[in-house]
Amino acid sequence: MKAVDVAIVGGGAVGAACARAVALRGLEVAIFEPGPDPAAASPASAGMLAAQVEPGAETLVALSVRSRDLYEPLAPALLETTGIDIGFWRAGIAAVAFDDPAADRLKDEVARQRQAGLRCDWLEPDDMRERWPGAAPDCRGALFAPEDGALDPEALTRACLADARRLGATLHAEKVDALASAEGRVRGVVTARGTAPAEHVLLAAGVWSQQIGGLPRALPVEPMRGQMAATAWPHDTARAILYHDHGYVLARGPDAVLGSTMERAGFDARVTNEGLAQIFRGAVRLLPALVTQPVQRMWAGLRPATPDGLPIMGRDPDTERLWYATGHGRNGILHAALTGEIMADLLTSGVTDVDIGPFRVDRFQQ
Ligand SMILES: Cc1cc2nc3c(=O)[nH]c(=O)nc-3n(C[C@H](O)[C@H](O)[C@H](O)COP(=O)(O)OP(=O)(O)OC[C@H]3O[C@@H](n4cnc5c(N)ncnc54)[C@H](O)[C@@H]3O)c2cc1C
Repeated sequence: MKAVDVAIVGGGAVGAACARAVALRGLEVAIFEPGPDPAAASPASAGMLAAQVEPGAETLVALSVRSRDLYEPLAPALLETTGIDIGFWRAGIAAVAFDDPAADRLKDEVARQRQAGLRCDWLEPDDMRERWPGAAPDCRGALFAPEDGALDPEALTRACLADARRLGATLHAEKVDALASAEGRVRGVVTARGTAPAEHVLLAAGVWSQQIGGLPRALPVEPMRGQMAATAWPHDTARAILYHDHGYVLARGPDAVLGSTMERAGFDARVTNEGLAQIFRGAVRLLPALVTQPVQRMWAGLRPATPDGLPIMGRDPDTERLWYATGHGRNGILHAALTGEIMADLLTSGVTDVDIGPFRVDRFQQ
C-alpha cells in the first residue's frame, strides 16, 4: 500500500482543521475518525471565540486573538467551497461583574487590553440595560470585547472535513489502535484492518490521544467534563453572548446555549442534577427571562485538559515524523484555526512563525 504524506488520528475540530490546512498545502492526507465519540469535545462545545474574555495563560492571549481573527476569512471560504455555514458570529462577548471586586478586576483588564492595542470597553450597568434590556439586572457592569464571538463547532468540524476531502483527503471510519514505528521513525498507523502506511502521523485524538498504543511517552491529557443545556432564546430579548465566572449563555440560531461545568469525572460524559443546577443558576442570573423557557436538550463532553492549561503542539523530540495537536482544553474551537496553520507550516517547511516552545510535548518530563 502506498504511504500517504500525513495520517491524522482524530477528526474533531482540531484534527479536521489540521486536515484542511495540510491538504490545502498539497499534501496527501488520510483522516482516521471512527466517531465522533459520544463524549467528544467538539460537538459538545459552546463554540465561543472568547479570545479576550476567557481567563487563560498570558502566553495564549496573542495567539487566541490571532486564531479568532482567522475565522473572519475562513467562514466565507468554507461556505463557498462546501456550502456549510459555520455560524460565525462576531457580535462581541460581555463578561459581566456581579460585585465590586469583580468589576475592579475587569476594569483593570479593560485597561490592560487597551494598552495592548486591543478593542475592549467597560460597560456601566446603564449601558448594559440599554443594550440588553432584562439581562443581568443586578450587575455592576461588564467588560465588552466587541471582536469576540462564536461559531457552531459541529458545523466547523463538518465543513473542515468536507473541504479537506474536496482537496483530496480521505476519511477512514476506523479507530487507530497504535502507531507503527521502526528505527526511531513513525511509519504509519495500526487499525483493525492492519497497518496504514504514512510518512508523518499527526495525533489529534482529544482526550483519547494518550490511549494510542506505541506512543514514545505518556501524554498528561486529562478529561475535564463540561455539562451543557439548551432552551429557546427568549423571543423579546436581543441576542447576546453573556459570560461570568460561573457560567455563560449564548444565542445559537433560535436557541440559548447554557454552560458549563469543569469537572474531573474520568471518561464519564453524563449530565448530573448538580451540574445542571449550577449552569441553570448561572445562566438565569445572566438572563432572567430564561427561567420559564422549556429545556430542549442537555449534554456533556470531555475537554482534553493538560496540567498547565496549554495545548500540546509540535513534533516529538525522539520519534521522527510524529506530531501532536492535542490538549486544547477550554479553548480548542477558538484555537483550531491557528493550530491547523501551525501544523501545516511544520509539516511542509519544518518551521512556524508562532513560538510553540511553551507547547512542547516534553515540557512535562522536565
Ligand atoms: C462543554 C464544553 C464547552 C466548550 N466550550 C468551548 C468554547 O466555548 N470555545 C472553545 O474554544 N472551546 C470550547 N470547548 C473546548 C473545545 O470543545 C475542545 O478544546 C476542542 O473541541 C478539542 O477538539 P479535539 O479535536 O482536540 O477533540 P475532540 O473534539 O474530542 O475530538 C477527538 C476525536 O478523536 C476521535 N478519536 C478518539 N479515539 C480515536 C482513535 N483511537 N482513533 C481515531 N480517532 C479517535 C474521537 O472520536 C473524536 O472525534 C468546550 C468543550 C466542552 C466539553
